[in-house]
Amino acid sequence: TNRVKVGQGASGTVFSATDTKTGKLVAIKCMNLSQQPKKELIINEIIVMREQQQENIVNYVDSLLVEDELWVVMELLEGGSLTDVVTETILNEGQIAVICRECLLALEFLHSRSVIHRDIKSDNILLGMDGCVKLTDFGFCAQLDAAAEKRNTMVGTPYWMAPEVVTRKAYGPKVDVWSLGIMAIEMVEGEPPYLNENPLRALYLIATNGTPELQNPEALSDTFKDFLCQCLEMDVAKRASASELLKHPFIKLSAPLASLVPLIKAAKSAQ
Ligand code: ATP
Ligand code: MG
Repeated sequence: TNRVKVGQGASGTVFSATDTKTGKLVAIKCMNLSQQPKKELIINEIIVMREQQQENIVNYVDSLLVEDELWVVMELLEGGSLTDVVTETILNEGQIAVICRECLLALEFLHSRSVIHRDIKSDNILLGMDGCVKLTDFGFCAQLDAAAEKRNTMVGTPYWMAPEVVTRKAYGPKVDVWSLGIMAIEMVEGEPPYLNENPLRALYLIATNGTPELQNPEALSDTFKDFLCQCLEMDVAKRASASELLKHPFIKLSAPLASLVPLIKAAKSAQ
């Protein structure tokens, strides 16, 4: 009951609603199945969400077939996406560190279960009004099994893609660490490198330039710059894992989650 539209995605419309069974607010992603070119992505999203439940992952509640629509019910995050915050506000390093920490906890969990997200970017990080940070959008997730420890299909969103994905080499969970590094740049500069270039040229620049340069490196602390270097390392063997990054000194600088609340409110009123 009480369906109110809160967002629009490529595959469907997202509503907030009240669950009549529990009285709790939920989010429902409603997708018209006959209009879906890639039904397997949607099924993948449901399977991953249902099986991978963790504090920093948007939790799945249920899914229903309503006439020709598939409804995916999940927990509601009313703070909007991290994109709204990075484009409308200025984050300090403590706030960036705590967002990185929460995302790394989600990645450490997924990677320990051999799941690669493959589409880490600010649009896919949703925020709660209490400052909680959760990962969503599992359509592109890949489950690695023993026979396929590395993947080589090109999926994701160009600007956040790791060089080994762009150049179509075999890749593993560390592609998510690279994308997290690009997302950290979004938190500093408001957008990822090369966003003003067309996607094909961006792919070319990622492949040829490798680790992107910061616009204003002198504005960042050495600890933060070192963290970025660990994420945006070209050599996959040398690139840190999610677990290793959780121990990085930059993560120790994390501000409390509640420090994100004013940013979320400011981003909302700016819109
Ligand atoms: P696609 O389905 O093709 O991946 P998309 O990624 O744009 O498209 P979503 O990100 O799932 O679709 O949802 C679209 C928008 O709906 C989001 O940007 C966000 O604003 C809102 N939204 C999605 N899930 C939730 C949620 N659990 N709580 C609150 N708002 C949500
Ligand atoms: Mg999305």
